Amino acid sequence: MQTVRAYAALTGGAPLGPWQVTRRDPGPHDVAVDIAYSGICHSDIHQVNEEWGTASFPMVPGHEIVGTVTAIGDQVTRHLLGDLVGVGCFVDSCRECEACLAGSENYCLTGKIAFTYNSKELTSGDPTFGGYSQSIVVSENYLLKVPGNIDAAGAAPLLCAGITLWSPLRHWQAGVGSRVAVMGLGGLGHMGVKLAKALGAEVTVLSHSAAKETNAYELGADHFVNTSDPTSLRSIRSSFDLVLNTVSADLDLTPYLNTLTLNGSLVLLGLPSKPIEFRAFTLLGLRRSVSASSIGGIQETQEMLDFCGQNNITSDVEVIAADYINEAYRRVLASDVRYRFVIDTSTI
Ligand code: NAP
Ligand code: ZN
Ligand code: ZN
Repeated sequence: MQTVRAYAALTGGAPLGPWQVTRRDPGPHDVAVDIAYSGICHSDIHQVNEEWGTASFPMVPGHEIVGTVTAIGDQVTRHLLGDLVGVGCFVDSCRECEACLAGSENYCLTGKIAFTYNSKELTSGDPTFGGYSQSIVVSENYLLKVPGNIDAAGAAPLLCAGITLWSPLRHWQAGVGSRVAVMGLGGLGHMGVKLAKALGAEVTVLSHSAAKETNAYELGADHFVNTSDPTSLRSIRSSFDLVLNTVSADLDLTPYLNTLTLNGSLVLLGLPSKPIEFRAFTLLGLRRSVSASSIGGIQETQEMLDFCGQNNITSDVEVIAADYINEAYRRVLASDVRYRFVIDTSTI
């Protein structure tokens, strides 16, 4: 067992501060990772503030982890000492159900998933602690290979923001000829723009921050609509095949559903806490669908990372020291980040 430095919230809603976690010795199939960078996802803030229900404290958030392999168990075959690797939102699952066997561990049918933090290890029942720490020990089957040609800090957010947008883009077959809209240009949204563009889609950003317009075009968007003007969505009725909603706040979805064309789908990715309401008529006239999508499986996360390596795609990041985490949370809540804070974990 190793005790390492970390940053934790000791109780719900508390500011984060220095703390210590114990990491297990690597078992036969485990890999020990020296963490270099850990992204700050809006989900970290939702959970620290218990917006999704009672959470487990002390909490060490962080599920956008990139680092280097420092030790491997004697049965490990997939990773070598010195490899650049990534850890995403979960570190284990039942491994036996149809979904797990098909590589959709994120949709494990038994619900036995160990999330990277605010969860429990499946074998020991011990609490899991995330990436705002110096190191982590993970089963080799839940560890990703990070392409060596992309910036490691910019790669960290791919482990959650990247895969969360990649998975629906692939599932709904976005590509040349498809019209995709991304709601919210934050950590998730800016990855959606980059990935949808690289897949060949025509991309529109629907943002309530007028100041992000120039940047949206720089990220590759073809169109920008300022949704803080309530009339703006009327002019783009029945326009999109796919709308990816990454907004973290409660919104009236109806005007956004009306931007879907025939057979179009709006996919919920943002996770505000209140229930969503709309009338069946909003969908019925053009056989529109509403769905939701949760992160991605290990295999498709690897596909996304490989695609990002081939296309030189990373997240636009602001690298911070650990003592800036609480200020970073405040700025994320104010939509004041371009587009992901990433902690340099050597400062913990
Ligand atoms: P983020 O960086 O804070 O981005 C959210 C964006 O939503 C903001 O940049 C802003 O974009 C928009 N927004 C915020 N408040 C708004 C408001 N009041 N009205 C309209 N738009 C608003 O957050 P993130 O890390 O991308 O995460 C986004 C959401 O996805 C969170 O709820 C997170 O928990 C969830 N999430 C889900 C999954 C999944 O598997 N489905 C995975 C990761 C995260 P504009 O300024 O451009 O309007
Ligand atoms: Zn996340
Ligand atoms: Zn399973």
